[in-house]
Amino acid sequence: MTPPLYLSTDNRQAVLRFAPSPNGPLHRGHALSAWLNAALASKLGGRMLLRIEDIDPLRSRPEHMMAIEDTLAWLGVAYERPVRRQSQHMADYQRAFERLKGLGLVYPCYCTRAEIEKIVSDKSPDWPRDPDGSAHYPGICRGTEPLYAADRIVQGDLPQWRLNMTKAIELAGPLSWRSFDLITFSITTHPANPTRWGDIVLVRKDTPTSYHLSVVVDDAIQGITHVVRGMDLEAATDIHTLLQTLLGVPQPLYWHHSLINGPDGKKLAKSKASDSLNLEREAGLMRAALLEEFRRAGFLMNTEDSQPQT
Ligand SMILES: [Zn+2]
Repeated sequence: MTPPLYLSTDNRQAVLRFAPSPNGPLHRGHALSAWLNAALASKLGGRMLLRIEDIDPLRSRPEHMMAIEDTLAWLGVAYERPVRRQSQHMADYQRAFERLKGLGLVYPCYCTRAEIEKIVSDKSPDWPRDPDGSAHYPGICRGTEPLYAADRIVQGDLPQWRLNMTKAIELAGPLSWRSFDLITFSITTHPANPTRWGDIVLVRKDTPTSYHLSVVVDDAIQGITHVVRGMDLEAATDIHTLLQTLLGVPQPLYWHHSLINGPDGKKLAKSKASDSLNLEREAGLMRAALLEEFRRAGFLMNTEDSQPQT
């Protein structure tokens, strides 16, 4: 079955990416994501890219990066070169940030996570949380006197920069994003709801960007047309839609796939050594067996077409 043209944005050639962070060993969820991206790229006659999201200076490790390429080779997922590494493109994120700054949408914040947790727990035990689990920012530094900031600068504190969500949403107007469905070949429009996030951090203290900012900038620069990623990132699509609108860049179509649980029924995690795909391989896991398992579980559709290249 040939996908209809509307499954490709603006009749452009489809461009997909697998975008892991080299901060831990990959697990089965990454394998699924990589396979789905590669299968869709092949189905749409598109391009498949690998992007290394290594903005975290402390947690990104060369050995994890090598393991990513090794795992993709094992999975049979081919991708174009050169591979984009986010750490080499900080100037791109800086430019996007300056644009948001120029719109008056960001402010420096000197609060530590511990300070924020203390403040919100004093306010209410039911203080709202962002979808990623951090406390809804209580707005301490939003609109604070420059004097307060000067005081923190004298102390040698570096700020993080937050997006003023109220202002940003007001400027952006009503937002929506589109998901696509490979089984029904349909596109659905979803209202974006960035209000469930507080003033998110756009530029961190330890690195001059953030996950949200880099992803949006890179998807635009790389001309990504279809984003295939885990369901755990669906809520981030609200933020990404907002940033895309503010930055005036095209919006890809999205598909958030099911998450895979480990044998203990819990979500797979990079931090859990037993979830490592490398360890599973060492213990004898074969690619064909994993592929078959995913197919049986219904994670891979149109199986004839999803066969990775060998
Ligand atoms: Zn603050």
